Amino acid sequence: MNHVVVVGAGLAGVRSVEALRARGFGGTITLIGEEKHRPYDRPPLSKSVLLGETDSTVVDSDLDALEVDFRAGVAAKGLREGVVETTEGELAYDGLVIATGARPIRLRGDGPQHVLRTIDDALELRALLVPGTKVAIIGAGWIGAEVATAARRADCEVTVVEAAGVPLSAALGPVGAHTVSWYARAGVDLRLGTAVASVDQGGLTLADGSAVEAGVVVTGVGVRPSVEWLAGSGLELENGVVTDEHLRTSLPGVVAVGDCAAWWSRRYGRRMRVEHWDTALGAPDVAVAALLGDDAVYDPVPYFWSEQFGHMVQYAGHHDGERLILRGDPAADAKWAVCWVADDHRLTAVLAVNRPRDLVQGRRLIERGQRLDVERLADPAVALRDCTAA
Ligand SMILES: Cc1cc2nc3c(=O)[nH]c(=O)nc-3n(C[C@H](O)[C@H](O)[C@H](O)COP(=O)(O)OP(=O)(O)OC[C@H]3O[C@@H](n4cnc5c(N)ncnc54)[C@H](O)[C@@H]3O)c2cc1C
Repeated sequence: MNHVVVVGAGLAGVRSVEALRARGFGGTITLIGEEKHRPYDRPPLSKSVLLGETDSTVVDSDLDALEVDFRAGVAAKGLREGVVETTEGELAYDGLVIATGARPIRLRGDGPQHVLRTIDDALELRALLVPGTKVAIIGAGWIGAEVATAARRADCEVTVVEAAGVPLSAALGPVGAHTVSWYARAGVDLRLGTAVASVDQGGLTLADGSAVEAGVVVTGVGVRPSVEWLAGSGLELENGVVTDEHLRTSLPGVVAVGDCAAWWSRRYGRRMRVEHWDTALGAPDVAVAALLGDDAVYDPVPYFWSEQFGHMVQYAGHHDGERLILRGDPAADAKWAVCWVADDHRLTAVLAVNRPRDLVQGRRLIERGQRLDVERLADPAVALRDCTAA
């Protein structure tokens, strides 16, 4: 293999370049990215960048030392076997890493609508968050909650409109109800069970015909994998780029990583596509191993964090209707956790609010598939690692 092309210069893309060199690949590497920026981290965009604490989140990676031909502002347009078609001509490859991430979903309507995916989005939105501005945020998910936090910190009048009955419902189900009081305490008008019909000049029109007046509208209703450019390539696509447990796609010499990859998880016996920073960080080493002929398996316990309304919220695992065990009292205490426990008393997921030890220990228990003593688990004074069944 002489030439590896990496498409997408986000975290997963740059980590792929690093992994190639770390594994001794001495050939040519070309990294293309449609943004005109060096690779940067996205989690701070809705946190420290929006709060005005930093302007740059560039990934600490020495592209010169990695001897990578980095082409910013170049987008992939199509794929044929052995060739990536780009906005700047064709690139022949022996190995290809697809790391094109995901793009925010926008809603109907001709009113101005902000999304938050890029550093440019974040800086543009930050400039609009000035005291007294009426901000309407669509979606009380991770991004919506973090934008609401920053907008209130900037003394904006904030309304969050959420179609589901609780915040964070897609990720946490009914557990998201424990975060409702955070919105009220921060002075955010949270409207649950409220669907948006369209984004119009001057604000939102709701499904019941009423309006929410706003000078700034932010849509945070999720993302879709950026895979349009792969249409017609013969590559199997289904909710992203389909890969096996080694992150190999259906085409030879092509692997996929990060937000755009839907990989087969041995641990969960199902396909997973996880839009988490930790996945973009960890998957490239396995994908690159596969590209270079090794058979590493990607099988992590997914991990995610969020900082909202002064709380550090961390989640690890994957849950699917298991029994819920609460550790602590969310109504009375700023520190609490929720454990999802399967019928055989194995921990499948943990949510930790201001309890980082629960997260670290819970993640380890999930990885090991250990059985737990459920009664001890319900006592927040007992460390999670001391809750294993005899
Ligand atoms: C505002 C925000 C806050 C977040 N906060 C958290 C958090 O707190 N915790 C957490 O775990 N995760 C968080 N995430 C998610 C995390 O940032 C993503 O999971 C991670 O960025 C995925 O990395 P990636 O490299 O796969 O994709 P991306 O970061 O999306 O990078 C993909 C790159 O590919 C480029 N690209 C797309 N199509 C093409 C093409 N055709 N040709 C060339 N280039 C292309 C894109 O422009 C982009 O630069 C957050 C995300 C956002 C947006």
